[in-house]
Amino acid sequence: MEGRSKPAVGELLIEVRDLAKHYGPIRAVDGISFEVRRGDVLGFLGPNGAGKTTAMKMITGFVEPDRGSVRVAGHDLADESLEARRKIGYLPETAPAYGEMTVAGFLEFVAEARGIDNIAAALDRVVQAAALGRVVHQTIETLSKGFQRRVSLAQALIHDPEVLILDEPTDGLDPNQKASVQELITILSAGRAIVLSTHILDEAERVCNRALVISQGRILVDSTPEELIAKAPNHNVMRLVLDSTSLPDLMTSLEGKPWCDRVERLSETTIDIYPQSGENHLGALMELTAGLEIHSIHLQEGRLNELFRDITRGVEA
Ligand code: ATP
Repeated sequence: MEGRSKPAVGELLIEVRDLAKHYGPIRAVDGISFEVRRGDVLGFLGPNGAGKTTAMKMITGFVEPDRGSVRVAGHDLADESLEARRKIGYLPETAPAYGEMTVAGFLEFVAEARGIDNIAAALDRVVQAAALGRVVHQTIETLSKGFQRRVSLAQALIHDPEVLILDEPTDGLDPNQKASVQELITILSAGRAIVLSTHILDEAERVCNRALVISQGRILVDSTPEELIAKAPNHNVMRLVLDSTSLPDLMTSLEGKPWCDRVERLSETTIDIYPQSGENHLGALMELTAGLEIHSIHLQEGRLNELFRDITRGVEA
């Protein structure tokens, strides 16, 4: 799958300088700075409790920072709060609070609060974008978690903002819904600056052109998702489940193959094949296994948790 790497050339829409917030003794966010341009999708990656949500709440004006500044489309969030907040759409981590309202009623309510003139047109646009057509008259509390996420996404889009802050936009969605929301984010990124948080490396690769690894409130790595994936332990390891009678033949064929670094046998029928330098050699393996009794081959993406552990230990990741 292709990432969306491209040089950042758009207009500066988000400028975050030395943002910090503590809760008692906890430094939730500890002095982070970054910029996002129009057309960029920036991923916040990090373990639980890293400070991603707190950072997003400060960027959207829901939490007051202890220090630092946020500018949105040239407006300082502290000095020109209304102008800055008008430019932002925010998908929070939690479900919409108005469970007893219908989807249409809730979106209308948000549109009125935002002072939107043509509410019907705005509703049509976001209902279509978030694929809510068939649940529009249902109350929010009766929806699945996936649909509730999409209602949240629709309210974030209702005023057609230039800046989108999305806290785990695909959390709780099934694989098809995840893919369609990822596609939507890519479409939306064309004229906007987007910041999203995710626990999934693959998602960052699909939708983000830049990734910040955050841990203990600090930015540890500013990179592309592709570079992170290449450094993730177990990247491109091929897990093979095959008939035990086919295993000796395969082991013989793998011997001396320059692309094969080592093979780990997990059981009578399951092996992990580690490629040289983390490269993708699925094609070569498929050739070798032709004619053998193979049950499944799974190409591993790399383990995000281990990548975080390496990075936070200060190991060169
Ligand atoms: P997750 O991926 O689990 O959502 P996160 O990276 O979004 O985590 P935050 O929710 O920002 O992390 O939390 C950062 C730290 O701040 C954590 O230690 C958390 O317990 C703490 N924290 C967040 N909000 C509050 C609060 N309102 N009061 C006290 N501590 C808080």
